[in-house]
Order: sequence, then C-alpha cells, then structure tokens
Amino acid sequence: MSDRDGPGLSVRLDAVTKIYSVSGEELPALRGISLSILAGESVAIVGSSGSGKSTLLHLMGLLDRPSSGAVFYDNRRVDALSPSERAILRNRSVGFVFQNFQLIPRTTALENVELPLLYRRIPARERRERARDLLASVGMGDRERHTSSQLSGGQQQRVAIARAIAASPGLLLADEPTGNLDSRSAATILDLLLSLQSRYSTTLVLVTHDMEVARHARTIFRVRDGLPEDPR
Ligand code: ADP
Ligand code: MG
Repeated sequence: MSDRDGPGLSVRLDAVTKIYSVSGEELPALRGISLSILAGESVAIVGSSGSGKSTLLHLMGLLDRPSSGAVFYDNRRVDALSPSERAILRNRSVGFVFQNFQLIPRTTALENVELPLLYRRIPARERRERARDLLASVGMGDRERHTSSQLSGGQQQRVAIARAIAASPGLLLADEPTGNLDSRSAATILDLLLSLQSRYSTTLVLVTHDMEVARHARTIFRVRDGLPEDPR
C-alpha cells in the first residue's frame, strides 16, 4: 500500500437525488441526500431494505450518476466528469466489497487479487508479489490457488477485500459485506475492514441493515425512503 499519497479521500454528497425510470414510470430511490464524510472516517449507512442504501453507495463510488445534486472527492466535483475520466478515477481511488463477494468464477484467489493491479499496469512479477502479500494480510495465504467455488463464504469475502484494497484505494465501500455470512465470519470480516481502515487511514463506508455491525463505525447515517432520517 505504498503508492497512495496521503490518507483517505473525503467524500461529500450535495443534495443528491436518483430517479430510476422503469417502463416509463419514475421511481425516486434517493430524494435529496447531503452527507459529508471526512478523510479516514468510518461511516455506516443504515436503513431497511429498499431505502436507497446501495444506490447511495453506487453514487459515492462513481458507478452511477445522480439525477441531480453533486458528488465531491476532496472538494473536487467528480460526478460531472466524462465516463472515461470517472472510470479512471474509480480504478485509482475506490475499492468495492459486495454482499455476494463477486469474485470471478473459475479463477484463483491470487488471480482475483491481481486483477486491479493489472488494470493499473503493474508488471507481472510485482503484481504477483503484491497479490501474495495482500492475501496473506487477510489470512488467506494458504488458499492462493483455490478458486471461488473451493472457498467458504467468509474466505471468499476475505479474498474480495484483498482485491478491493489491492490498488490502495482512498475510499473503501462495502455493501452489506457481512450479509451472507454466519455471525463468526461476519465478525472476522468486520474486524478486517476496520483494521484496514485504521491502518491505512482509508475512508470506509459500510452499508448494513444490522445495528450490531453499524455501531462499530465512527458515524452512523440512517436513510429511510431515500431521505436522511436525521440530517447532519
Ligand atoms: P437498498 O440497498 O437500501 O435495499 P436500493 O438502493 O437497492 O435499496 O434501492 C432503492 C430503491 O430503488 C428500491 O425501490 C429499488 O427497487 C429501486 N432500484 C434500485 N436499483 C434500481 C434500478 N437499477 N432500476 C430501477 N429501480 C431500482
Ligand atoms: Mg442494497
């Protein structure tokens, strides 16, 4: 994690809305959310199913654009960049961890973790070395050659986390990362995310509907029906 200049990114959402259009009908998923996240902070986004948590995370991670409002990284407006500029920034700055792991099937743990390093044009030998170190750092050093189907859910999620942090992102986004895990694996994954956040001063945004998980974050942000429950 040597090539990141400085600590995590600060993220600001300014009155973002997201209206999905489904067969001619407009569905407002986010109805005006403003939120400021400090560099290196840990934030849990909490709300019931359908409240707009994933949509919010996708806007934060530049996977999608708001219908109105703006997104800032370190006070620079980023949602209005061109698709290719956003893709470059995303590759460089954002790591994603999903509820269902989303590892590439029939591909080894090592190859999964190498992928973001390949996108960043890191030479093969260094790529392999760094991927090995990353797997070791999430306690998966002895599973390098296993494919996803040969790993348990908790192990897949550890590989997914190693992949998400491979390119030293300033912003780590996790969408219900413990949602598909038993309580013991869930606790391990949560510890891992929080220890990475504090070790690298990465900004961590965690979506969950579980208050037990959320209370480990420094700040809790509640959404309900696409709106903040208690504006900050
Ligand atoms: P959460 O993650 O809190 O469960 P989501 O952000 O996934 O909530 O969804 C918020 C609302 O937006 C839901 O009503 C959902 O059905 C709708 N929605 C989410 N993604 C899409 C999409 N790609 N197209 C249309 N509607 C969507
Ligand atoms: Mg969701």
